[in-house]
Parts: sequence; structure tokens; C-alpha cells
Amino acid sequence: MTVVTRFPPSPTGFMHIGNARTALFNWLYAKHTGGKMVFRIEDTDRARHSEAAVQAIINGLTWLGLDWDGDIVSQFARKDRHAEVAHELLKAGKAYYCYCSPEELEEMREKAKAEGRATFYDRRWRDSKATPPEGVQPVIRIKAPLEGSSTIHDHVQGEVTVQNEQLDDMIILRSDGTPVYQLAVVVDDHDMGVTHVLRGDDHLNNTFRQNVIIEAMGWKQPQYGHMPMILSDDGSKMSKRKGGATLEEFQAMGYLPEAMCNYLLRLGWSHGDDEIISRQQAIEWFDLDGIVKSPARWDYDKLNHLNAHYIKEADDARLVELLTPFFDPSLRGAAGDAAIQTRLKSMMPELKSRSVTLVQMAEEAAFLVKSVPLDMNEAAAKLLDADGKAMLSQLSERFSALDVFTHDKIEETCRALATDTGAKLGKIMMPLRAALTGRDKSPSLFHAIEILGKEETLARISYAIR
Ligand code: GLU
Repeated sequence: MTVVTRFPPSPTGFMHIGNARTALFNWLYAKHTGGKMVFRIEDTDRARHSEAAVQAIINGLTWLGLDWDGDIVSQFARKDRHAEVAHELLKAGKAYYCYCSPEELEEMREKAKAEGRATFYDRRWRDSKATPPEGVQPVIRIKAPLEGSSTIHDHVQGEVTVQNEQLDDMIILRSDGTPVYQLAVVVDDHDMGVTHVLRGDDHLNNTFRQNVIIEAMGWKQPQYGHMPMILSDDGSKMSKRKGGATLEEFQAMGYLPEAMCNYLLRLGWSHGDDEIISRQQAIEWFDLDGIVKSPARWDYDKLNHLNAHYIKEADDARLVELLTPFFDPSLRGAAGDAAIQTRLKSMMPELKSRSVTLVQMAEEAAFLVKSVPLDMNEAAAKLLDADGKAMLSQLSERFSALDVFTHDKIEETCRALATDTGAKLGKIMMPLRAALTGRDKSPSLFHAIEILGKEETLARISYAIR
């Protein structure tokens, strides 16, 4: 059997982090088994539908580096096929027309509530010989089993059983001929050849209802794996409103896709004590048994640890490119210049070792992109007092005299000035750092000075001591 998994998000306008994990797990399982992952947009809610919302999901998958097999399927575009199945079930006597009025249904609902029943529809049109009322467009309801129980062997939840009396004869086709969600999902999964359904456990209840349709059609049930929720770091449900719940937010916070994938993987799946798991290893190792059964809490420390790791591993040129959108808008143009990109790339080893996120890296690297007049923070401005400026003035003269402007020569010059003036090296380096970066902290200065070059260095010093 070729495994076919699926990723069927509803286009909400963003990629929820839970959805991102669902996509990853389905993708990994497909890759692990040499199978496929199909991609369907559950876009039947036309009132809220937009192309931009679909694009957000596609962007999310692309950013994570997850691909899919075949074309993207629109659930809405398949509505005739869904209706066709409803009619097929009708013809086979597995479903029936129901002509109940809203008032009748309300009455049944009240009654069920009073009696404490989970289902309310009294199945009055099931096997009914009554004459349909005039002018009423019926719905189609499926015949759910009346007794016994249904069990699924879920790869994550284990054996789950519900009593069939919990299942109602649900509507599968509305009176206007549109299919309900449960029917659409089942028909699409079947037609797309889905063998494994890995999704959030908020869909566990749906599974039993969907299985009624699957059984009635005589189709084979897919294998299920219902994954527990991801909780926020405070243990509450992750919501877009509170922030930190969408992939786009983590992208903007400067996390790398490979760190996100590794983190999301570890958040819901384990392989011994392994924390850092490459994509290749993930494909090799991923199985359904490793999916953890309890809800996982978001842990920024762990995510940061992974991100720092993947930043160190990342290709320098790629990081330079990724960094651009993280600079202040006023610097983004300059950040694209070839000369500035060369600077950033040369500084990358130091930047990598100091950064947990791309946001932080962009802050650290901004001085390489800026030019005179440099903005100064307060701490830097303080370092440029009269003593500091005097020191820089002497240093500037000595730098000017240098023919080769290399790390070693620069360091030698700074040290010589310290010796000659009897000052501690710090008394030179601190104002120098302020003059060159506008900050009181920066990556290794000797190297940075070499990268900035003689002309730029002298221009910055001259501006600082003006
Ligand atoms: N469209 C559903 C969602 O985004 C997924 C349904 C399913 O996996 O069956 O939650």
C-alpha cells in the first residue's frame, strides 16, 4: 500500500502553528514511507473565502520547505461530486430525505435537552412512508447505526469507542443542495486516495460521524492519528488574538524554518532524547508511534536554543539574504548593495555566534549597513566624552598612516596607542566602538574595522569627534 497523507487546512488568512505541525507530520510520514502528501484547501465557507488566505497557507508550507503531490484541490470546486455521493447514498437506501420544518426541529431539540440526550433528531423521516409536505425542499440525512458501538484504533489515542446512540442521522446535503463539511471531507479523502489521516484531536468526534458515511459507501476507513493540541507557554489554548500562535509571527520574530520544523517536530513527537534532528533524520525516523499523547506546552527557551543552533549551521550567504527584511526599513535599500552584503557575509561568523534570532542579528549587524551620520544610543554617546574623543583623534591619525588595513595591523595600532599613552586598551576600544557602531556593544571590533575599511572607519571617527 502506498501511503497517502493529506493536509486540508481551512484558509483562515494565516497558518496556525498547530496547522504547521499537522502539515509537517503528514509530510514526514509520507516521506518516511515513500508515499505522498496531498493538499486540499477546505474553502467551502465562501463568506470568508479569499485568495490571499489561500496564499497565506501556501506561503507557510513553502517557507517550511514542505511540498505536496499533485495539484492543490479546492473542496468548494468539488461540491457537485459531494452532492452526487449524497444522492448515491439516498438511492442505496443508506440516506433519506427529511422534510422537518425549523419549528419541528426546535421542538425535538428542546425535548432532547430536557431528557439529557446528546442527539436530538428523532429520525421521523427515516423509513417513513408519509407523504412529503408540499413545497418543502428536503435535506438528506444519513442513516447512522441505531445500536452497538464504533471503535477506531487511533495511532495516537489508542482504541477509542463511542456508543452509536451518540451518533445522529446527520444532514449530509442541505436543502439548497450544498454538502455539509463532514460529507465533503469523507468524499475528498476517498477520491484523493488518502490512507492516513493525521490531524488535531479536536477532530476526533468528527471521525465517528465521518465513518458513518464511509461505512455507508462501503469505503475503506483510513488509518487515524489524532494529535493533541499545542498549548501556549502559560498552558492556555494558543490563539491568534493573544499572539505567538501563527507561523507568520514566528517568521517575523526571526526564527529559521529549519528551527521551526525541528521544534514543531519535537513538540509532538520524540525519538529518545534527541533534540536536534535534521530533516534527513526526521524523514528516516518519523513514525506514528513516536507521537506524544499529551498536549505539549510551547517553550521559547527550547525554540531559541534550536534557532541559535540552526543559525550557526546556516550558510552565510543565505543568512545575509534572510537578514534584509529584518533591518529597519530605512536600511533595507543599503542592505541590498553588493558591497554591504560582502561586509555582512564577512562578519557572519561573529554574528552567528552572538545571535538567537534574525531580529537580534539584524540589530547586531545594523552598523555594517549604516553610514555617517550614525545614530548613537545613550550609552555610546556617553563614551564619546572629551577623553574618548581625544583618544580617537590620535587613533585616527595612526589609522590614516596605515598602508594595509587588516585585523592584525588594526589591533597592533590600537595596542601601540594604549602603550604610548599609558591607557588601558579599553579606554581606546570603548569610544572606538561607539564611534563605529553607535552602540556600546558589538561583535569583535578589530575584524569589524577591517570589514568596514579604512575610508569608512576614518569617516565614522571623524564624525564622532566633530
Ligand atoms: N479543515 C480542517 C482544519 O483546518 C481540517 C480537517 C481535517 O483534517 O479533516 O481544521
